[in-house]
Amino acid sequence: MPESSIIIIGAGPAGLCLARALSQRGLRVDVIERQPRAAVVAPAPDGREIALTQASMRILRELGVWEGIDASAVSPLRRARVADGDAGNGFEVDAETFGQAALGGLVANSDIRAAAWSVVEGDERIRVHFEAEVASVAAGSRRAEVVLEDGRRFEAPLLVAADSRFSSTRRALGIPVAMHDFGKIMLVCRVRPGRDHEGVAWEWFGEGQTRALLPLNDGLASAVLTVTGVEAERLQALDADALSRELEDRYRGRFGPMALEGEVHAYPLVATWAHRFVGPRFALVGDAAVGMHPVTAHGFNLGLASVERLASAVADSIARHGDPAHPAMLARYQRRHRAGSATLFLGTGLVVRVFTDDRLPVRPLRRAIIAAGRALPPLRRALADALLDDGPVDPTPRQRLRRGFEVLRPRVAGSRRLQ
Ligand SMILES: Cc1cc2nc3c(=O)[nH]c(=O)nc-3n(C[C@H](O)[C@H](O)[C@H](O)COP(=O)(O)OP(=O)(O)OC[C@H]3O[C@@H](n4cnc5c(N)ncnc54)[C@H](O)[C@@H]3O)c2cc1C
Repeated sequence: MPESSIIIIGAGPAGLCLARALSQRGLRVDVIERQPRAAVVAPAPDGREIALTQASMRILRELGVWEGIDASAVSPLRRARVADGDAGNGFEVDAETFGQAALGGLVANSDIRAAAWSVVEGDERIRVHFEAEVASVAAGSRRAEVVLEDGRRFEAPLLVAADSRFSSTRRALGIPVAMHDFGKIMLVCRVRPGRDHEGVAWEWFGEGQTRALLPLNDGLASAVLTVTGVEAERLQALDADALSRELEDRYRGRFGPMALEGEVHAYPLVATWAHRFVGPRFALVGDAAVGMHPVTAHGFNLGLASVERLASAVADSIARHGDPAHPAMLARYQRRHRAGSATLFLGTGLVVRVFTDDRLPVRPLRRAIIAAGRALPPLRRALADALLDDGPVDPTPRQRLRRGFEVLRPRVAGSRRLQ
């Protein structure tokens, strides 16, 4: 077998996007995927509606993936509301206030994966090996090596793990991971609410549960519930009518009657943070590096940021050292991706702790955060900026400074109280 330039384990959205980003820089890539071809070529809907930031849409456009997503499959996210307890107690971030039509776009994970496959399929520098079970991986100072169960052997100067937050490649390479099991299940399903959602994404905490409603095109929405394992089992066992009624009740009738459309999908909530993102001849991307709790909707956005950072480090490594995996360049990738992810990762953990803990001492803190969101335009602007900014994932100090001033500029309309 001819030697490949880079080996990627995992043909999920991060692995496929990285393969494309490396190919665009002239590299050949072998992608090793455990699933059968059909699961990657025509991925089944998995209930995940991915809220993409403007930066992620830019990256997908640059990779050519965006073109493969039908415009009608992109649901604009015009406003985002965060509410606590009583639905009226919250604050809102409105794209219009910032002169934009949408804060971001919602796209089904299966559509992103299918579009990523369509660019990879037509790329002669990328080979994807399906139903490939990894028997062993090794990475040393000179080469990385992957051997498959069927005896095929791959050698490369760089091995990348993109094989999910429970990455077995990461474990095989001996990288410890900080893992937090939130002890809850996230249930997601498409619904047709009786009332127009007006392009508003709701995140509704309190009353012993977390509910979200994500606005989709054609009058559809994605209902997202965070519940205990026992509750998840009970809800999944309900028939469509009973579940629709239960949803209407849980959302306090705010969106009118709910009609279930399609299947309910369940995800155990586990966040992961790899202690190292790189080592000699290897790197982690996507969820294998940082596995986010979905509440802040940033897992794949960070995954795409890791793709941009690693692809740029590899290109610079070749240009400066004639080697795609020079230790200094991998270290730069790790440094930048850590710095670009840590605040969101820790902040998300804090949001989950503060907003899902109904014990008395935490409630005033929650109220204070909501009140700050309502009273402080710069805070809302900072939240909107994180979604709207489509610049490089690692801005220069000057760009950072300019962004900082933008956030503080007092041109935001007064806060809007929810009704
Ligand atoms: C309910 C929910 C909602 C979400 N909403 C958002 C959102 O709004 N915005 C956002 O940015 N993110 C969101 N996310 C996160 C997003 O879905 C993930 O970050 C993203 O799918 C991770 O992509 P990945 O390619 O890193 O990993 P995965 O999608 O897990 O893909 C890993 C791939 O590796 C393969 N693989 C695994 N092990 C092996 C092996 N040993 N050998 C070969 N192949 C292997 C798998 O078959 C798979 O194809 C959400 C997640 C959930 C659960």
